[in-house]
Amino acid sequence: MPADFDVVIVGAGAAGMSLAYHLCAPGADVPVSVALVDAPPGPLRAPPRTWCFWEPPGGPYDQSLAASWPRLRVRAADGAATVARLSRLRYKMLCSDAFEALVERRLA
Ligand SMILES: Cc1cc2nc3c(=O)[nH]c(=O)nc-3n(C[C@H](O)[C@H](O)[C@H](O)COP(=O)(O)OP(=O)(O)OC[C@H]3O[C@@H](n4cnc5c(N)ncnc54)[C@H](O)[C@@H]3O)c2cc1C
Repeated sequence: MPADFDVVIVGAGAAGMSLAYHLCAPGADVPVSVALVDAPPGPLRAPPRTWCFWEPPGGPYDQSLAASWPRLRVRAADGAATVARLSRLRYKMLCSDAFEALVERRLA
């Protein structure tokens, strides 16, 4: 592992991992070396978790998603349900373990 890096990111959570992933995009005009530093296992280390978000199909993390929903079901107070197909967006779920693995592969 090199001793010097162009960028050191402290905290491998949603923000740190996203930044590292995008800084190390293949084909960048100016490649940068990035170190991503997380807390050691213990009380400071964030537990495994999931992030859900809206995005069109074909996003940068699609290969690592745990789920992607193309439909919404809204239930009214009287119990009647309306189902709508989402034309442009998907509701996506990304688990932190899968995101970590994706970012690790890119940083490697
Ligand atoms: C219950 C819950 C549900 C949520 N659901 C969603 C959701 O569905 N969709 C969504 O978009 N957002 C959701 N959020 C919000 C989202 O999790 C946060 O906005 C996001 O994680 C913040 O990113 P972050 O990188 O700033 O912090 P975090 O993701 O918390 O990352 C902080 C990182 O810093 C590390 N760290 C801590 N101390 C040190 C140290 N001393 N040295 C080095 N590293 C350190 C930790 O280990 C951790 O990896 C949810 C939040 C909660 C609490």
